[in-house]
This record gives sequence, structure tokens and C-alpha cells, in this order.
Amino acid sequence: MTDEALLSVSELRTWYELRKWGFFHAGYVKAVDGVSFDLARREAVTIVGESGSGKSTLAKTLLGLVPPTSGEMTIAGTKLDGEKKGKGLAWVRANVGFVQQDPYGALPPFMSVQRILGEPLEIHGVPKTDQEQRIREVLEEVRLIPYGDFIHKYPHMLSGGQQQRLVIARALVLEPKLIVADEPVSMLDASVRVEVLQLLRRIQEQHDLGVIYITHDLSTVRYFSEFAFVMYAAKLVEKAEVKELIHNPLHPYSQALLTAISDPDAANAHIIKEVPGGEPPSLVRPPSGCRFHPRCKHFMEGVCDVDEPPAFQPVAGHEVECWLYREGEVPVDEESA
Ligand code: ATP
Ligand code: SF4
Repeated sequence: MTDEALLSVSELRTWYELRKWGFFHAGYVKAVDGVSFDLARREAVTIVGESGSGKSTLAKTLLGLVPPTSGEMTIAGTKLDGEKKGKGLAWVRANVGFVQQDPYGALPPFMSVQRILGEPLEIHGVPKTDQEQRIREVLEEVRLIPYGDFIHKYPHMLSGGQQQRLVIARALVLEPKLIVADEPVSMLDASVRVEVLQLLRRIQEQHDLGVIYITHDLSTVRYFSEFAFVMYAAKLVEKAEVKELIHNPLHPYSQALLTAISDPDAANAHIIKEVPGGEPPSLVRPPSGCRFHPRCKHFMEGVCDVDEPPAFQPVAGHEVECWLYREGEVPVDEESA
């Protein structure tokens, strides 16, 4: 972890235990399985992967909603142990904002905008005299203005885009250090997606926030972050700067994802998203060796199905877990040892 690292995640594993039948134990769904990365202040990273790759579980683990099975997470120098209650969770609530996928489901229907934004301030002991000012500030930041038009409204009185702005306002109200946004625009109309992503980006830059943006749609990456990580079957198989990943994807899975991508811009909505053929693997009994090997057109028998590939760095700052890059390369872990 560097001095200025905001978030440091090391060898994180989150496994869900399957039901036991008497003495028979069916095992675990290994939804996050050895994930490591650092994020500096003012940096945004997109984590992209198909459905079931473990993205939401990673988000929930960072938010303290699911306890990690093993590994370490440190945010702004505070080590988190995935407590689901008590002081640890209160610290996470105050310092990590959460923007959910479905804004309508995320907002309590019988609470006004004022109560939705006031409640976290109340819980975290912000004096009553400061609460109104803070609510005004966040509503202005997310462009729910003028204040008087929105403060007494209920979620059902807002459009989808306005509801998501309110969710963002709630995530910001306690002035967090990090925002985790899990598919924040996937349920919005194409016409407002880019707008909401650009709003998040502007807020991130103004407040020096770290942002983890989780999506299954690689095309939205360029609207948002400096870095992109590709998640496949519970692992981060590729990490690079966004431009580098888009122009030079190294992992065969990333290459397949990038062959044709959708665009949230309505003008380009005709471009259809494609994912590589074949089924995503079981996370209870993942394939041996490289987890992508049953779907990979570069599969090398006796290599790819035997050992898990470590991270190689064939281009400076660009890591990939794939045996294609083993020639003359030293795995990243061994380099730093
Ligand atoms: P999606 O975009 O569809 O939500 P995802 O990439 O976010 O997919 P997760 O929701 O994290 O993936 O799910 C990863 C795996 O963990 C899936 O196989 C899922 O069925 C499983 N899973 C998620 N939650 C639980 C749970 N509470 N108990 C058992 N298995 C779970
Ligand atoms: Fe394909 Fe082998 Fe690379 Fe896995 S390690 S992505 S199977 S070439």
C-alpha cells in the first residue's frame, strides 16, 4: 500500500457457504476469490464483468454488508474486518457511500427527500442546526434544484434520473472518502445514463473521492474512470488504465468483451453488447487452471488447464492473468518480492 492509497485490498475472499445436509457439506460459492488492488485518492476504477462474476459481492464486502472469508481491506488507513454491526460498520457507513443499481428500490417510499437525507445526519450526530445547510448543499451538488421544489417530495414523485440523483446525494451527505457505485445507470433510460455518470465524475473530482464503479457494460468505462479492472469468475484477470485496456486488451476474455460493445449514448444505441460464447463457470467447482479455459480460443492443453495463471505485466502498468504472456515475463508477485 502506498502512502496516498485510499483503499487497499489484499487477497480478499468472500465465499458463501452452501446448505449442509446432515454430514454432507455442499461446499462454498467462491464469489470473490483472491482479489487484490489499490486505489489512490481522487482515482476512479471501473470493475467490469459479466453477470455472476462476483462484482456485487465485492461491493457488498467493501461496504461491510457481507463479511469476507479472508484477506485484508484498508480504507484511509483504517483496517476493516467486515463487521456487520458495531463501530466498524458505523465507520464504513460514514466513510463509504453506496449508490445502488435500482434507485426506486433503494429509496424508502414513505420518506420525503428531507427525511431520506436527514436520517444519516441524525444517526451520525450532525447537529440539527447544520443539517438543513448540508441537505441544501448535496441537493445542489446533484442538481436537484431549486431546493424548495424537491425537499418535500417523495421518491415516487421523482423521475428515474432524479431518483438516482437522490441516491447519489444520500451517498454523499456524510462526506465519504470513497463511493461504491454498483451498476448505477443500468436501470435508467439511455438518455440520462451519460448525464448521471458525468455527474458522478464531476462530484468525484471536486471532492477528491475514490470511486469504484461496477458494471457489466464496458462501453460506459470511458465516461468515467482512470482505471479498469476486468473480473471473471471471482478474480480480477486484467488491470490497466482505461485507454490502454480499450486499445490494447490482453486477456482473451477482455478481447472478446471489446469486440462489440453497447454505448449508453442514445445516438450509438444500435451497437449491441456481446459476451464470449459458452457458459460462465461454476463458482462452487471452478475449472482447473485458468477459469476461462473452457471458453478460450487460445487454450493450451497441459498449460491452461493445469495451474492458475499468476499476474504478468507485459506492458508497464498493465497486468494480466493469462499464460499467453508467460514467455520472458516474471509474475508481478515475484517481481515485487
Ligand atoms: P450480477 O450482475 O448478476 O449481480 P455479479 O457479478 O454482481 O452478478 P454476484 O451477485 O456477486 O455477481 O454473484 C456472484 C456469485 O455468488 C453468483 O454465483 C451468485 O449466485 C452467488 N451469490 C450471490 N449472493 C449469494 C448468497 N447470498 N448466497 C449464495 N450465493 C450467492
Ligand atoms: Fe486462455 Fe490460457 Fe490465457 Fe486462460 S491462460 S485466458 S485459457 S490462453
